[in-house]
Amino acid sequence: AEEDGPDAITARVETADGRPIEVAANVGGETELGPAAERGADGVGLFRTEFLFIDRESPPTEAEQYEAVTAALSAFPDDRVVVRTVDIGGDKPVPYLDLPEEENPFLGRRGVRLSLGEHAALFETQLRALLRAAATEHGDRLAVMFPLVSRVEEVERAVETVESVAADLAAEGVDHAVPELGAMIETPAAVFVADALAERLDFLSVGTNDLAQYVMAADRGNDAVADYHDPLHPAVLRALDRTTAAAADADAWVGMCGEMAGDPALTELLVGLGFDELSMSAVTVPEVKARVRAVDSGAAAALADDALACETRRAVTDVLDLDDRAE
Ligand code: PEP
Ligand code: MG
Repeated sequence: AEEDGPDAITARVETADGRPIEVAANVGGETELGPAAERGADGVGLFRTEFLFIDRESPPTEAEQYEAVTAALSAFPDDRVVVRTVDIGGDKPVPYLDLPEEENPFLGRRGVRLSLGEHAALFETQLRALLRAAATEHGDRLAVMFPLVSRVEEVERAVETVESVAADLAAEGVDHAVPELGAMIETPAAVFVADALAERLDFLSVGTNDLAQYVMAADRGNDAVADYHDPLHPAVLRALDRTTAAAADADAWVGMCGEMAGDPALTELLVGLGFDELSMSAVTVPEVKARVRAVDSGAAAALADDALACETRRAVTDVLDLDDRAE
């Protein structure tokens, strides 16, 4: 399989018993698009638009953002491209925005909180670029998601903003379309209202880097608590299960775009938990695709049930047959 030619590597992948799983790439800059396509990614599951905002003195224009998104769509003409609206604040500061200093930035104003608050104008500009990109040749493959959601009202207001931007573009006679819309599931609050979020949206995508941080109360960047920042803690697994169940009940698709998605040792578990899409750093795409092909989805569901019944990380790693590296 290592010697598979380009056709084999770019083929969409399904489990041994025929369940399709999208294996997509996380992209944090335009230079990553080519390598992601070469690795055979089925599109982009997380387009981190922050790269458009950092290392400069002013926010990107609508035209710059439109160019960046249409470049991503052209790099994957047959695949979905999921663009995250800008996720600044927390660990992603942007000097020219003058964000107030906060004692606990990870528990402060970040992600969609800023987009619906003091940076509403930035959000509208970004949405204009996205809705225009959705009307281009490959634009029907565009999806847009909102980061760090914790309230149903945030999604309602974000969707209303999308609608009002669409109305403005229509009044101006500008070509546009409304893309698929989704929420990132990164907070315990979002997990517990995932049913209500999924009813209002086309998809959910779990950001396990933040979700593990907030479920475990362990800073994702602090080495002193790195072992607490644990996606295999039963609480995190149960949060994933609750999210995939909520999506399935609402007929929404559900993906994962945190680091956990790129660990080939967890592919069977994640398929068993019900994820439709896994998005990861491009380097791991071929290996995860190979794992998906070997999965039987019935066995994977049984494995997930066993993992969900565990009370400790140790028990989870035993079920998954992993070395328990963190204690
Ligand atoms: C996450 O939190 O898992 C995620 C994918 O977003 P980021 O790492 O950019 O916060
Ligand atoms: Mg995140």
